[in-house]
Amino acid sequence: MDVQENAVPIGSLNTSKQVPLHVQDPAAMAEIERLLTRRTRDIRLKGELRRLFRERSWSRTAKIVRAWMVWVALLDVLTLSLNMLMLPRAVTVPMLPPSSILPAVAMAIAVVWQKPRAPWLQGLSLIAGMFLILLSIALVGVSAGGEFYERHLNIMLFVAITAIIIFGIPLAWTVTIAVLALGLYLVFQLLNPSLEIGSAVAATLFFASGIIATVVARRTMTILAQKTFLLELRDRCRVAELADANGRLEHLARTDPLTGLANRRWMMETLDRLWGGGTKCPAGAAMLMCDIDEFKNLNDRLGHAEGDRCLVEVADIIQDCVRRDRDHVARYGGEEFLVLLPGLDARGAIAVAEQIRKSVEAGTFPNPGSRVSPYVTLSIGVAVQAPAAEAASPEQLQRQADAALYLAKQAGRNRVVLHGSVSSSI
Ligand code: GH3
Ligand code: MG
Ligand code: MG
Repeated sequence: MDVQENAVPIGSLNTSKQVPLHVQDPAAMAEIERLLTRRTRDIRLKGELRRLFRERSWSRTAKIVRAWMVWVALLDVLTLSLNMLMLPRAVTVPMLPPSSILPAVAMAIAVVWQKPRAPWLQGLSLIAGMFLILLSIALVGVSAGGEFYERHLNIMLFVAITAIIIFGIPLAWTVTIAVLALGLYLVFQLLNPSLEIGSAVAATLFFASGIIATVVARRTMTILAQKTFLLELRDRCRVAELADANGRLEHLARTDPLTGLANRRWMMETLDRLWGGGTKCPAGAAMLMCDIDEFKNLNDRLGHAEGDRCLVEVADIIQDCVRRDRDHVARYGGEEFLVLLPGLDARGAIAVAEQIRKSVEAGTFPNPGSRVSPYVTLSIGVAVQAPAAEAASPEQLQRQADAALYLAKQAGRNRVVLHGSVSSSI
């Protein structure tokens, strides 16, 4: 019986619908533990973990960036239309050229952020695009002049703040956008004919404090998202480790530690499965009950260790004689092995049993003083459940195989006996 591995490979994790996460590296696992024992504010993702985090959060971030771009473009078109309706042409006509930059740039960024691209391209497109969007808003005010001048600079900062707070992008990109917004604000306020230089600087410093607070808030949100990501990764790895340990435990509980064969419990489960809860194996099956002859003698003469070695050899021989993909071999008791041969009739089962018996004999494993042979021999009882025959439960079949084995022993050992016949061989 082949032992199935239930173990889940550690780290073969899927924490998101889109991106499978693979943390197989023990160093990465140690890094996750190290980061989680630190203070939250000191969490910094590096290398592979940073790449995984970006990969994981990309689709959400890209969706937000695209939605924001559409929103800003629509707002731009809407306010321009309202201005055209409500304001004199002398004011609105100069607004047209700079205002038309914004929707074009916003749509271009939305297109670039449609699918994952190299980080530098994403960063460059977003930062350059944000600069042009903010510039376009500022220029609308500058072109219209008067009360619109300062109002549009304030609108520009408001737009920048919304982007800073909702874009889950690397901190360096966020800071760059904040600096660009404040730089544009300062430059245009310095050029504002209705403002003193001191007032321009004071207004910039005032807004700078607000923007800095926004950047800090953004950073905190990003760190919390990273911590959640690390906790999730750790949980998944622990679950995988647990599943792995469970699989190994289950495997141990079902196998015989000496021979590596299935144990009696596993064989019972297999029989129940093949019989499908009914009283008959649908495809028919044969059962071989194999018992080493004069094994006590071998133990007494050569010692328990030799006896163990003999059990391992015999187990290997039996396994080599059966179809690995269909048949099942279990160590049933001390020196007894049960072989289940699904789909085999009496002829086929006797042929397999004979092959096993001959192979063990040919192995010339010493059993000095045995009354049967100077070498280890095997007696085998065979029971068959033909598909068309009367129903026989696994227990009945075992009893029949046991009875045939008893007859084989009685008849002198080192032989195969089929239940219900007197045929034997030596
Ligand atoms: P027979 O030909 O009638 O089968 O005689 P036998 O000596 O093989 O059978 P018996 O039932 O008298 O003895 C079986 C022996 O198998 C007794 C026990 O000490 C030994 N045995 C059971 N389990 C192990 C094991 O795991 N290792 C070793 N070395 N011996 C074992
Ligand atoms: Mg026995
Ligand atoms: Mg025996």
